[in-house]
Amino acid sequence: MYLKLGRIASSLGTRFLRKRLFRNGAAATNSSAREENEPTLEVKCHYTQAEINGCIFHLGDCALIRGENQKHIGRIIEFFETMDREDYFRVQWFYKPEDTVMKEEASFHDKKRIFYSSIMNDNLLACIISKLNVIQVSHQLNMNSSSIEPSDFYYDMEYCLEYSTFRNLPRGDSLEGCKLPSLSCPESILPLTSSPVAVNRTICKTYNPELTMLDIYAGCGGMSTGLCMGAKHSGINLVTRWAIDADSSACESLRLNHSNIRIMNETADDFLELLKHWERLCKKYVIEETHQPFSSPQKVSDLAEASSDAQSNSDTEGDELEVLGLVDIRYGDADGSGKEGLQFKVRWKGFGPSEDTWEPIDGLSNCQDLIQEFVINGFKKNILPLPGNVDVICGGPPCQGISGYNRFRSVDAPLTDERNRQLVVFMDIVEYLKPKFVLMENVMDILRFDKGSLGRYALSRLVHMNYQARVGIIAAGSYGLPQFRLRVFFWGALPSEELPQFPLPTHDVVVRYYPPSEFERNIVAYDEGAQPPELEDAVFLGDAISDLPAVTNYESLDAMPYSRPPETEFQKYIRSTKYDMCNSASTEEEAVLYDHRPHQLFEDDYIRVCQIPQRKGANFRDLPGVIVGDDNVVRRDLTQETVLLPSGRPMVPEYAFTFEQGKSKRPFARLWWDETMPTIVTYPNCHSQAVLHPEQDRVLSVRECARLQGFPDNYRFSGTVKKRYRQVGNAVAVPVAKALGYALGMASQRLIDKEPLLTLPPKFAYSTISVCDV
Ligand code: SAH
Repeated sequence: MYLKLGRIASSLGTRFLRKRLFRNGAAATNSSAREENEPTLEVKCHYTQAEINGCIFHLGDCALIRGENQKHIGRIIEFFETMDREDYFRVQWFYKPEDTVMKEEASFHDKKRIFYSSIMNDNLLACIISKLNVIQVSHQLNMNSSSIEPSDFYYDMEYCLEYSTFRNLPRGDSLEGCKLPSLSCPESILPLTSSPVAVNRTICKTYNPELTMLDIYAGCGGMSTGLCMGAKHSGINLVTRWAIDADSSACESLRLNHSNIRIMNETADDFLELLKHWERLCKKYVIEETHQPFSSPQKVSDLAEASSDAQSNSDTEGDELEVLGLVDIRYGDADGSGKEGLQFKVRWKGFGPSEDTWEPIDGLSNCQDLIQEFVINGFKKNILPLPGNVDVICGGPPCQGISGYNRFRSVDAPLTDERNRQLVVFMDIVEYLKPKFVLMENVMDILRFDKGSLGRYALSRLVHMNYQARVGIIAAGSYGLPQFRLRVFFWGALPSEELPQFPLPTHDVVVRYYPPSEFERNIVAYDEGAQPPELEDAVFLGDAISDLPAVTNYESLDAMPYSRPPETEFQKYIRSTKYDMCNSASTEEEAVLYDHRPHQLFEDDYIRVCQIPQRKGANFRDLPGVIVGDDNVVRRDLTQETVLLPSGRPMVPEYAFTFEQGKSKRPFARLWWDETMPTIVTYPNCHSQAVLHPEQDRVLSVRECARLQGFPDNYRFSGTVKKRYRQVGNAVAVPVAKALGYALGMASQRLIDKEPLLTLPPKFAYSTISVCDV
């Protein structure tokens, strides 16, 4: 039984409102699907209170509301009666964690935490079950349900379906004690405080405060390099201080290009252990013994310097090996015994750096002074991040367990698959260091595989750690590359910060997106149907590589001269010097072309490739003895004698006929100048991908692939040719990272509006910054 109280007779009178009607109080998670059939409710009058089952409900009260299959939580915004004498209420919904896109991956969240949303609709009054006490808590609190006053539920963040966003509550809206009917959805109000920053300019100032960054799973550094470039365009000096990667060649590449980063060749798991030990050592030696406050140390610099004081320290007596100093620290298994632990790299008296050895800390019990000295110096030089002194963590945890290219994947419990465990480790490091901002990158399968559970897990971890977060799907081609390459990015930002936006495309690329329907609202693009803005023309293969000198399948030089000047805007930009691009200290012109050598095809494949005509669309179907049926399926022409290679194997190999049920045109396919590649992968396999140069009989060189990923020509790669391709193919395309870096820089300065997407400044893709220091 219910009674209406406090009728508002004259203020609104009879009005017609177009309302969403969800009988039985079905929450609005799938609201958009129903908008088409919204009935029009003819409202007779409004009320300020209602008595339901003996309990008086006021406007602004929260209630448990009956849904189709479950109960929901909402705030009552209006009570009204229709001309048909039906009693309704308008409700603004809250989301329980598992009602959001996190779904069952939110199972470890506090059951009392719910999320504010601006989604509202109308329901029959009979759906109200009971009153609930829901309170807003300050996002600054380190929340757990015991630290807040008793309530049924609490909320500190808003959830929006666009880009699966969790963010601070809208400002300027008290959200509580709302006693008057609200006839429109309250929008979050955040003034746009600045217009975009101009590019191609000379900035005669030192940059805004430095932001420090840790790049985990850094690879050759595509992501952090681009982020720093982009942040500089927003006026922020984002500096990669530390980078870790388990692969030694990737670390070598990082060293080749970045002299100021502390690069650690270790696994992320060991790195996390190292961080924990390091904090303990700093507490022990820096705070307890020197009584120094545990405040942010100063600048990172190389370890040799950090340990230099130690070198003058000890005298040798007798023949015993004597420790001269400690020069590095790591966590791991020193002697391969399987026993993990903290280790120091020891410089022995009378020996040089090449004879340094890793020694477990247990064996250095006589060297307490040296350990103390190392820790105090290391703390001062900031050789390792401590909780709270990293501003940004970026990383692309590897995902071999889910990659679409990998057939051996664990479908039932993807997170227990060792190959996906790095997602957990990445989040554990974030949890430990608590950076202001997080950016995680991954392949599309993170949203596809096992109904997107890995992506949901990543988001859930961020939100659980009290980060604001959002998820976007980005196509590299949209930022000025001849490559589609879809990737997923997760932003995280502490509640004290602004949540970065996603950068809208700058280039006109038609991308074939096939995200799972649930993640369609995560695509970073202009609205279809909306007036498209002036975008730059798409960049094609020719724009990117036509100026490079011809090389053969057998090219083995790592460095060579350019044979001609750049021909396109892309080529001019990609050849610009480090100094132009990112205000690095180097000013010398780089006139040498590096890494322009291809993976060498074996004899059989080389002969086959030489037979593929140099024209658009050419592939193995152009070889002798292939028939293409009406159904587009290829088969061998049995009327002709099979053409054999000198090795005795057939000119057209068997796998070309069976690949993708004979329908593929990719085996031995040439690219063409006016084309966009799907994705640069980690190995240029001409048996299954279109990777042949348009007019030369070889696969694309490492440099050509690097250009398609937007690496500037001065960015070099280390390791075998195969490893270099891997580093390039694994990387976040530099222009994408640059665009994201701009968004990060703007957010860190609070120069953003409430929209999830941001427009990049004009000509951003080819913009460079020259800096004259003051
Ligand atoms: N973000 C990088 C690419 C990362 S690819 C860029 O933009 O260039 C993933 C990287 O993770 C690879 O370089 C691989 O060597 C590294 N990796 C794989 N397993 C790892 C582990 N357990 N710990 C640290 N690095 C790991």
